[in-house]
Amino acid sequence: MSKSILQDNHECFLTGYYGPGLHKHHCMNGPDRQHAEEDGLYIYLRWDYHIADSPHDTPHNNRETDLFYKRMAQRKYEETHTREEWMARYGRSYLDWEEE
Ligand SMILES: [Zn+2]
Repeated sequence: MSKSILQDNHECFLTGYYGPGLHKHHCMNGPDRQHAEEDGLYIYLRWDYHIADSPHDTPHNNRETDLFYKRMAQRKYEETHTREEWMARYGRSYLDWEEE
């Protein structure tokens, strides 16, 4: 298992919480989930900042929140890789377009 390249500690990315109920969120999902695991493109979130059924905006109930984490992951990846490498691995860029 690789280490997250998006945070150093095993704690909630948003709140710093580090007790029970921490979830691992892969910034890329579906067929890209395994790549995200290998590349360390995941974060830990307190469960209520992760699940869809939550009063908070989470990557599983809010498209903008989902995109925020995806863009963050791509930016971090591209600190050590080229855009071409990103495209070859993940198929689309999240950085040069905005949701309408
Ligand atoms: Zn998730």
